Amino acid sequence: MDDRALQPKEILAEVAVFSAVDKTLHYSVPESIRPKAAVGCRVLVPLGRREVMGLILSLGVPEHPPSQGIVVRPLRAVLDREALLPQGLLGLCRWVSTYYAYPLGEVLQNALPPAMEKSLSTRLELTREGLEHFAADSATPFVKLLLEKPHLSLQEIRRKRRNLGNWEEELRYLEAEGWVARTFDWKTNAATEETRKTASPCRIVPGEEAAVPPLELLPDQQAIYETLLPHIHRPAFKPFLLFGVTGSGKTEIYMRLVQAALEADAGVLILVPEIALSSQLESLFRQRFGNLLAVWHSRLPRPERSAHWTRLQAGEKRVLLGVRSAVFMPVPRLGLVIVDEEHDPSYKQEDSLRYHARDVAVMRARIQGVPIVLGSATPSLQSMAHCRSNRYTCLTLPNRVFQRPLPELQVVDMRRQSASNRILSRELRQTLAETMASGKQALLFLNRRGFATFTLCNVCGNVVQCAHCSVSLTYHQQWDRLCCHYCGWSRPLPDSCPTCGHASIFSHGFGTERLEEEVKQFLPGVPLARLDRDTTARPGRMAETLNAVRRGKAKILIGTQMIAKGHDFPDVTLVGIVNGDTSLQIADFRAGETTVQLLMQVAGRAGRGDTPGRVILQTYNPAHYTIDAVLKMDYLSFVEKELESRERLQYPPFTRLVKFLLTSPREENAREAAAQLAGLSREVAEDLRSENRHVAVLGPSSAVHARLKNRFRWHVFVKAWTNRDLQELINRVLSRKKGLAPLNRVHLAVDRDPVMTL
Ligand code: ADP
Ligand code: ZN
Repeated sequence: MDDRALQPKEILAEVAVFSAVDKTLHYSVPESIRPKAAVGCRVLVPLGRREVMGLILSLGVPEHPPSQGIVVRPLRAVLDREALLPQGLLGLCRWVSTYYAYPLGEVLQNALPPAMEKSLSTRLELTREGLEHFAADSATPFVKLLLEKPHLSLQEIRRKRRNLGNWEEELRYLEAEGWVARTFDWKTNAATEETRKTASPCRIVPGEEAAVPPLELLPDQQAIYETLLPHIHRPAFKPFLLFGVTGSGKTEIYMRLVQAALEADAGVLILVPEIALSSQLESLFRQRFGNLLAVWHSRLPRPERSAHWTRLQAGEKRVLLGVRSAVFMPVPRLGLVIVDEEHDPSYKQEDSLRYHARDVAVMRARIQGVPIVLGSATPSLQSMAHCRSNRYTCLTLPNRVFQRPLPELQVVDMRRQSASNRILSRELRQTLAETMASGKQALLFLNRRGFATFTLCNVCGNVVQCAHCSVSLTYHQQWDRLCCHYCGWSRPLPDSCPTCGHASIFSHGFGTERLEEEVKQFLPGVPLARLDRDTTARPGRMAETLNAVRRGKAKILIGTQMIAKGHDFPDVTLVGIVNGDTSLQIADFRAGETTVQLLMQVAGRAGRGDTPGRVILQTYNPAHYTIDAVLKMDYLSFVEKELESRERLQYPPFTRLVKFLLTSPREENAREAAAQLAGLSREVAEDLRSENRHVAVLGPSSAVHARLKNRFRWHVFVKAWTNRDLQELINRVLSRKKGLAPLNRVHLAVDRDPVMTL
């Protein structure tokens, strides 16, 4: 199995290795392993002097072969008996790798279970031929060891290697002769067995009577269901936007579609933005689909993830309900994709592979040729624009079920409140008290956690900042410390100002912790619950809290955006938006969109049962156009206006953006690299212009959070009018940046369709 020159028309394996290599590599396929080599199987391949794992993407005479005469190296081993990933997912990963400019090998790891990453343990065993061959022969020490100890792992052999001579070379020879085979175990198999034993047997078979029968669809729901049903029976790619106000009964439509897909023997992928939401949907789906359901979220322990993956792959689980990374999971015979709350920013991953799960889901549906339903009460402007251009089919549910009224909204101008009512206005206090008196529940929304949001010296004006980030620290009473919400660093409250030394340090602003205290003082004895990242650190706490609210054990629920989405609490009749301005202060072009979406979602939690709801929105900007849109609960006219302004300013969705983010522990390195990248982008833009293609380069500039986790951050934006031109620019910039010293000293992240533009 030596490296040798490439033969004309030779069949090669195209492999994506599981490390940060930005191209796929070609290897020859030795006779001995040819029958086992299949697309989608993992393989061991040489890479430089290392041996690494990868996945076969294609087999055949390559369209653009490495030039003749060039040396190709052989695959060392095939690790799977059959393809781990189906063609459709491979195609999706390829698209993701190109679109988000991320190494394919690393993209693929998102689609494989965690334990199948690089470090699995390799065991060696003699094959039948090997056993026969060596039965008569006097064997080498290495072979003797294999005879004595079948299934020895490579690690164990390495530990014993002193008296084994050059066993690595010997192994290569033994493998080439077909006398030794490698087996690979990943701990997941054991874990699967474990969960199999404990799991109850699969009870629900589609068609059989389900544990909880479906609700009878209301006429509006029925109409939409009937529109979608034929697309499940004759699957082809077709995107739908289900634009239904909060409480219009979207969930029941999803469940009926899932049922229909299961009856047609297809699998379904349902994405939800956050675990908080998945827990409520989970119980609804669990009641309906029992053991066919798998749930996927970020807090799932690794063995369970692997077990889910295996059971999906095996077709035991056919409905996957999960957060963004579930978009890469091998749902068997995929027949339908649903993305709930499709506008939600948490579908965007903000580190390593910076993908948007909704967009990837749409591409997956396209590649696999299935319908996709994007649902929201406040769809993204991007999806609304697609509806206008007829790329998506828009289905609307303009009313709540049973014509329940949307909540009545009242805006309170906080500039007119007395100092003692700065957190809870007079109006909110009064309504809160009335709501409690009538035995109903209330929800108080504040999009900031902690007790006080910044700490400042009254003499010199210095704000106490994180030691590692250019971020002001939040005071948390729970720990009596100032904490950084970006890196987790914390410190005690200083007695005097770290800058000027005066004992004049005061904390200002308020978060959910402070709000809780304020409510406790105002309504002593009323049972409260708080839901934010601090109260849900322990697994299971979130579900406990939500259950307490649902069972009426907690009368007032205080929380961050965790309480905004999806929840259906029929007894909540009052929603208080404590500070409607928090996300408006951000200078991002999407600030208006995200504010309206968030506030309308929160408001939508009120009055979902039989008693009509009320919403009190406290704000310092009562005249702001977004507050006005929320007040009227009129999303559509907001969208019209906002799209007009985006078009005028040539922002997405009318243009396409990419952000190049350059970070370094050294400020000057990040700055220099950003300048160089901007220069390079401008050169490429100039070249493109001569081909009559247009892109605009903006920057370089320092990010608003100029330093996070000890890294200085600079960025460059490029705007284009078509995806094709933007892709071309990215490709050319990345291929020309090699060899440019300042750029290679820093970390470069390519953020396509960035959600954070500051
Ligand atoms: P959305 O997700 O659109 O905000 P939900 O799906 O949570 O709305 O539905 C709102 C409420 O209406 C829920 O309590 C749900 O049980 C109820 N509901 C939905 N569809 C029906 C139906 N067909 N018959 C009776 N109740 C329904
Ligand atoms: Zn920090």
